[in-house]
Amino acid sequence: MPDECIFCRIVRGELGTDFIAESEHNVAFRDLSPQAPIHVLVVPRKHLTALRDVGLDDQCVTGDALALAARVARESGLLDGGYRVLTNDGPDAGQTVHHLHFHVLGGKKLEASLG
Ligand code: 5GP
Ligand code: ZN
Repeated sequence: MPDECIFCRIVRGELGTDFIAESEHNVAFRDLSPQAPIHVLVVPRKHLTALRDVGLDDQCVTGDALALAARVARESGLLDGGYRVLTNDGPDAGQTVHHLHFHVLGGKKLEASLG
């Protein structure tokens, strides 16, 4: 439920999380348990449980999220070395927070394997 959802609470500012960037439909903040020197989460302001929830009406949300992810990468100095953007949907992918989010990872040579 959006009332109890941790990312909805962060989006509403209830946990005092620093946003490193914001856009019309998304916010960006550092992951609590970083898996790379730069590990930022891009999170829609709207509660969608995962990519599977994205409908035609939400294309502005996901388009905006990817644009914000690229902006975060640029402003974090990742364009030369490169970076990875990914989202986990469901248990096999290891999704733990059931509010759509995109991981932005970089600042080191990332594992080539995605699966
Ligand atoms: P998932 O496994 O669902 O794709 O990713 C969830 C991510 O959210 C994890 O990388 C986890 O470290 C991060 N995370 C979970 N709770 C919090 C929190 O309260 N604050 C922040 N900044 N990150 C969180
Ligand atoms: Zn939520």
